[in-house]
Amino acid sequence: MYLLFIKASMRAESETLSVVVVPSSKAIGKRSRHELTEIELWRGRILEIRIPTSRTRSRNDNQANEQPKDVWVIVAWYYSPLTYKTMGVPTDQRGYRKGDFGKRELIFTPTHTDPVHIDTLNGTEAILDYDEKDYDQDDIPEEAFYKRSVYDTVHQIWEDGPPTRECICKQTFKVYDDQEMHYCPRAGCHKWYHEACLEKHDFMIRERALRKFEDEWEATFDEEWLGDIKEEVDALPRGNSIEIPKRLESYARRPIMKGGKHGVNGNAAATFRARWIIHQARKEVPIPDKYKDFCKYKRRSKSNGGAQAKERVRRSTMVHFEPYKQGPFLYCFICPSCKKAI
Ligand SMILES: [Zn+2]
Ligand SMILES: [Zn+2]
Repeated sequence: MYLLFIKASMRAESETLSVVVVPSSKAIGKRSRHELTEIELWRGRILEIRIPTSRTRSRNDNQANEQPKDVWVIVAWYYSPLTYKTMGVPTDQRGYRKGDFGKRELIFTPTHTDPVHIDTLNGTEAILDYDEKDYDQDDIPEEAFYKRSVYDTVHQIWEDGPPTRECICKQTFKVYDDQEMHYCPRAGCHKWYHEACLEKHDFMIRERALRKFEDEWEATFDEEWLGDIKEEVDALPRGNSIEIPKRLESYARRPIMKGGKHGVNGNAAATFRARWIIHQARKEVPIPDKYKDFCKYKRRSKSNGGAQAKERVRRSTMVHFEPYKQGPFLYCFICPSCKKAI
């Protein structure tokens, strides 16, 4: 063995580093490397860096200030929808379909590792984590690669994932490849539905007064499901009033949506919080002083900052909501399962 493991401290730093590898042109067909698209590049996470020991280096390599020539990295691969077949993942038997994943979505396979020479590395890239069950998930920029599933290639089991199929059409949510979806937040439902599917199957009701829908939207809060929001609100400093501000009302009294122009998160995070504060105010619990800030913004660690660096980011990416109107009627979608306004 002529490879040396790097020191543990260095290894810890490199564990989250994802790199892009240029595959040999043969592996992806007859085209030359220059025609590779961004999606065709291979991506892996560096687990270890190995450099030659001084004993096995040539004399030239040992001279002062010279970088060792044979540095290898051990990489655990991310599979892309394009590499399912070539990398030997069975498609149908493993609980997913190829179409369950988005165009820029990757599956992390910690068990499929290879040594890769550093000369074949093409650069670094952040592969973002996407947890679709986390309504406080950070937004995913449109051009970013992301992963939400982890597959163990040795035992052929999913450690995480595959993505949940939603809606009556039983499709998964694809980040930025997808259309708008509506959420039913009621206990026993917790499902997303495509707006187009609801429309197609006529899951709609109409009313003359918007207030009727607004009342329904505001009233849904699954206390068991959203225990963390209850705790957060409990910890906020209270004001003196139980009078519900118009602005807080406007956060709560709208449908929960994501996808399309509403982004990965939509408005679930802000809307849930507003609904809970109102729910409590109606039981005479005073409204927190900083309800506006609490509903709309969160603090998260800065990706390029130091250990203490935090930034304030918007929870809600929903731009605006206007109910569909025809003649004297306003239209609202209903949940295909519980048949109530969503
Ligand atoms: Zn659908
Ligand atoms: Zn429902």
